[in-house]
Amino acid sequence: MNTPSKRLLLVVPCYNEEAVLEETTSRLTALCRRLRAEGAVDEAGIVYVDDGSRDRTWSLIEQFSADFPEVGGLKLAHNVGHQQALWAGLAYAAHRADAAVSIDADLQDDVEAIAEMVARWNEGSDIVFGVRRERKTDTRFKRTTALAFYSLMRRMNGNIVYNHADFRLMSRRALEALMDFPERNLFLRGMVASLGFPTAKVYYDRQERFAGESKYPLRKMLAFALDGITSFSVRPLQYISLLGLAFMAISLCAIVYGIVVWFEGRTIAGWTSLLVSLWFIGGAVLLACGIIGEYVGKIYIEVKHRPRYFIEQAAGTCEKGAQARSE
Ligand code: UDP
Ligand code: MG
Repeated sequence: MNTPSKRLLLVVPCYNEEAVLEETTSRLTALCRRLRAEGAVDEAGIVYVDDGSRDRTWSLIEQFSADFPEVGGLKLAHNVGHQQALWAGLAYAAHRADAAVSIDADLQDDVEAIAEMVARWNEGSDIVFGVRRERKTDTRFKRTTALAFYSLMRRMNGNIVYNHADFRLMSRRALEALMDFPERNLFLRGMVASLGFPTAKVYYDRQERFAGESKYPLRKMLAFALDGITSFSVRPLQYISLLGLAFMAISLCAIVYGIVVWFEGRTIAGWTSLLVSLWFIGGAVLLACGIIGEYVGKIYIEVKHRPRYFIEQAAGTCEKGAQARSE
């Protein structure tokens, strides 16, 4: 099933998380020790990825790295966003651990569920998705928009696990497979779901943020949703062609109607209809251009193939062997 020595790393991206880090560290180190004591793993550690925070996050990570033998940290040279920061941690873990669990710093995800994930892994699963049982703690707005997004994503043919965010366990094999994805536009939950391998789900209740405030305002959330769709699906492009065909059909009907009316000798006082259709078609064309532009922009970013991030500093268990370049 798994390799004889089992080393688990918990990967925690942090952006301005000074308010929660102490509690997070105490809960996660306690969990690491428990997992070891119970024999579920042989070694367990934590990798904090400081995503260019502007508060005391990095100095706290350095302090905890000195205080706890389980803790290590990577400091990214600037803010690259949650997905890229998570990638940095997973890339670090891919060559150094037998499994990695990604979890947010704010303790919204249930730390206890990790033990269950490890159990599923020990039973032979390569990927264990953390799935939210209910969305009680979300505002009604976030709940409905999130559910609408999942069903839209399904329709767009994207791989997605319902109510699963980025709380999951991945075995070394799955991590290494993920590292073969060269793309810069990351939508990790979709990428991981498309890997295959034996998978399992663990259900948990998502809590309120322990402290501090969300780093995902509505603007970022919408951008992320759009990213998710355009990184995974070419359906919108196909819809544009369909829309074009539909418009052509409508205009054909209009031509036939025009000719018939002309033969009947009724002239059209057609200001309004002309103007309306002009605007409508103009709008549709612009929309189509915008959607195509979104894909062209993605291609541009991929073609440049820029490094994802730079590691500025490493602390604690990460000090040895962390590479400055993105892995
Ligand atoms: N995060 C990050 N870089 C960013 C924004 C967020 O590393 O640019 C981290 C953040 O510290 C947290 C996780 O991503 O650990 C999820 O962010 P948050 O809890 O603010 O999002 P929400 O749960 O509100 O969607
Ligand atoms: Mg959160």
